[in-house]
Amino acid sequence: MKLETPVTSLPLVGPVYARKLKKLDIATIGNLLHHIPHRYLDFRLISKIAHVQVDETVTVRGEVLTIRNQYTKFGRKIQIAEITDSSGRITAVWFNQPFLVKTLSSGTKVSLAGKVVWFGRKRALISPEYEKQNAQGAGVHTGRLIPIYPETAGVSSKWLRGRIIYALNITRKNIKEFLPKHFLSQNNFDNWLTAVRSVHLPESIDDVESGKRRLAFNELLFLQLKNAFRKMDWQKNEVAYKLKVDKSEIKTLVDSLPFTLTKSQARTNDEILKDLERDTPMNRLLEGDVGSGKTVVAATATFVAFANGHQTVFMAPTQILAQQHFETLKKIFSPFNVRVTLVTSAGVKGGPGKTDVFVGTHALIHKKVKFDNIALVVIDEQQRFGVEQRARLISSSGKKKKAPHVLTMTATPIPRTVALTVYGDLDLSTLDELPKGRQKITTWTVPRQKREEAYKWIDKQIKRDNVQTFIICPLIEESDKETMKQVKAASAEYEKLKKVFKKYKVGLLHGKMKSKEKDFVMGMFKKGKIDLLVSTPVVEVGIDVPNATIMMIEDAERFGLAQLHQLRGRVGRGKKKSYCLLFTESRGEKVLSRLSAMRRNLSGFELAELDLKLRGPGEVFGTRQSGFFDLKIANWQDTDLIKKAKEVALEAVANPKKFTKLLEKLDQSSITPN
Ligand code: ADP
Ligand code: MG
Repeated sequence: MKLETPVTSLPLVGPVYARKLKKLDIATIGNLLHHIPHRYLDFRLISKIAHVQVDETVTVRGEVLTIRNQYTKFGRKIQIAEITDSSGRITAVWFNQPFLVKTLSSGTKVSLAGKVVWFGRKRALISPEYEKQNAQGAGVHTGRLIPIYPETAGVSSKWLRGRIIYALNITRKNIKEFLPKHFLSQNNFDNWLTAVRSVHLPESIDDVESGKRRLAFNELLFLQLKNAFRKMDWQKNEVAYKLKVDKSEIKTLVDSLPFTLTKSQARTNDEILKDLERDTPMNRLLEGDVGSGKTVVAATATFVAFANGHQTVFMAPTQILAQQHFETLKKIFSPFNVRVTLVTSAGVKGGPGKTDVFVGTHALIHKKVKFDNIALVVIDEQQRFGVEQRARLISSSGKKKKAPHVLTMTATPIPRTVALTVYGDLDLSTLDELPKGRQKITTWTVPRQKREEAYKWIDKQIKRDNVQTFIICPLIEESDKETMKQVKAASAEYEKLKKVFKKYKVGLLHGKMKSKEKDFVMGMFKKGKIDLLVSTPVVEVGIDVPNATIMMIEDAERFGLAQLHQLRGRVGRGKKKSYCLLFTESRGEKVLSRLSAMRRNLSGFELAELDLKLRGPGEVFGTRQSGFFDLKIANWQDTDLIKKAKEVALEAVANPKKFTKLLEKLDQSSITPN
């Protein structure tokens, strides 16, 4: 049988089991063999029955002397057996498994494993693992390190063990090594088959570690290979506009800015400008904390396209952000006669006539403006767009055979290891510092009993300094899209706060509002005509309101640290001292200590790394961020393995002859994650 063969070709696996296995992401024999145990029971101590001691975890082998069903006081059936070997006798007890009386009828040679306890005055094994002794000696469920697998209803570890060992035996010839021998020995990797065996039938914990390391490497390697090929396709089939970068022109632009660039802005500019000079299209992700100054970096690239007589499209996820970029770019480019046009569903603003930069929302995709002189596509907050939308904008830009350079930007602080894997086909630039002089935002955790006090404090701030406040409602469901529940919660909070802050103007903003209404409310807030703005968590990430100095977040513990950091980044944009209040009803120590990390001066990246450690990737990346998936075998903390996998993937693509078997393997999907 092959690894690609469906599990249903295994004996005892019919459609019912197939359905259950689906829940564990197991469809093929290959999937089954890569179902990794999460722990092991140590049944390696094989003991003569006479030597067995209470509290020991042991395997004993002997013959069933007697076995019978007995009713307990509570009407439950228990099964009591006496087992003997040449040295002595021991009792075994099971609960509610009356069939055992037949399976293990007296005279059966059996192997039992479990913990020894007192049963009355006798030594006994309670609910031990059992299996009939077979001719080969070595057991599947006893006498060794026994794997415990992730299970699902109706699929026990015992059942999985049986099927996995069977599958391993009949497919072993197809688990052919695909990496060069010297590479394996150089890197201390197990042979593939050895690794699979070691994970399911280990002799020692070292075996397990070593086997898992190899299988994790496989997983990462195939992910990286796919990335590497995607990257090669991107570069191979298309030619980009090779742009001339005039250093002195760039200097004029940079000098005209009201600030000096941060070191990482300057470095990132260099990385991008180098890409633009090539005739292979750039595909770069610019990661940078909220407020790290991504716009100006994108503007520099835009300026290069302009200086070469080409246009740029600049897409933002919301109307407000598009408007904001439109104004920023107009300001930056005002000394240079760069013509900027705003394209949103509300219409086209800026023209008439020719333009150098189109700024807009996804309306850009549908507008009938000609895009054939476009050399650069900038996509801001890229995670807010679907893959499809991004692809459509890119493919509608540039001339037939000429692809645009693409710069995508995100403020989502993705730990580097994750970015290397998830966005492995992109080149990565990181803005890892904030412009100088940014104030630290004072952050407090506010427990329930201090709520009233906190409201009074906010009231005082507004009265004294005429500042504005954001109020973020709790995250109700893990979802990218805003649900009705979320909208209701925000509306309820709005009604409540209108009563608390009677003297002030309270506004409400949520994703189910029409974009005209949203723009109106946001506009009022920007103009200072709304004092407190209640909003759902998913709206308007990048908005700039310098007079807003207080960020209040309800049920803060429901958010990821990086997310809290992003929300907090909406205040502290002006000169006034800013504050972030994290409301929580929780008294859990873990929760409070996690939230207290927000008081340390950590960057979004550091907070994301910390959260990854504290809560694990499932919680951090969950379903909240579209496009994220979790690794099955490898771990996001395996930095070295992730780097190595990327290295090998790039080498294999550049030098396919060295890795022929690996590349053949890539076409078969059985060991790659879905
Ligand atoms: P983001 O990375 O969140 O998109 P922006 O590009 O909106 O950040 O920049 C945030 C603010 O910081 C803007 O007001 C911008 O003018 C300002 N800014 C950008 N770079 C610098 C710098 N090097 N020094 C000072 N202020 C800067
Ligand atoms: Mg931005």
